[in-house]
Amino acid sequence: MADIFISDLHLEEARPGIAKLFLQFLAEHASTENSLYILGDFFESWIGDDDHTSFNQLIINALKNAASQGLTLYFMHGNRDFLIGKKFLKQTKCQLLPDKYVVNLAGTLTLLLHGDTLCTEDLSYLKFRKKSRNWLLQKIFLLQSLKKRKLVAERYRRASKQYTSTATDKIMDVTQKEVERLMLKYEVQHMIHGHTHRPFVHQFKLNGIDATRTVLAPWHERGSALICHSNGHQEWVVVE
Ligand code: MN
Repeated sequence: MADIFISDLHLEEARPGIAKLFLQFLAEHASTENSLYILGDFFESWIGDDDHTSFNQLIINALKNAASQGLTLYFMHGNRDFLIGKKFLKQTKCQLLPDKYVVNLAGTLTLLLHGDTLCTEDLSYLKFRKKSRNWLLQKIFLLQSLKKRKLVAERYRRASKQYTSTATDKIMDVTQKEVERLMLKYEVQHMIHGHTHRPFVHQFKLNGIDATRTVLAPWHERGSALICHSNGHQEWVVVE
């Protein structure tokens, strides 16, 4: 039995190599023994479940197949694919997790999150997040034509690229204060997240007790997954 964690694949048609790695990884781990947790930014962008591109369909079918082979699938929204909706979840048999979710990993309560909300110094992003997560604004956006939505998403992507190239490294990383606040709130000593693209296992003391923050790696030239076995053993798997 294993719980597998991945995030930040940023799947898109323009990077078929990464999609191929994911399909291969998925096929290898699709068994009743495993659960796969996708912790956000699975897609580079998602403009609605009605965007039936052959690329999206390929990924949807692969997830569906893996689920039919017994793999348990969990999905958490990232800051790029927060519009993944009911139809996608139903088609892929993914269970949607709330933005913060606690799992028990071999006896260790672990808080799962995408990680964007940990970057509390990034005020302009948090402002955008608040707007983009508003259900009414989402509904209005989804009523636009696919063509219009594509243009809007492209505009946001360009602005985001420009912004992340100018924002300082510090602003783009998590703040330790927020990490500790959440861990105390959820009464956990372990946290797993992605988003920052800074894979690392951070060890620190929380209330005098050992605490760990595991940051997942993005899928750039190759893929990466954290596999937590039921006996407590954890391993990083490189997908290439
Ligand atoms: Mn992200």
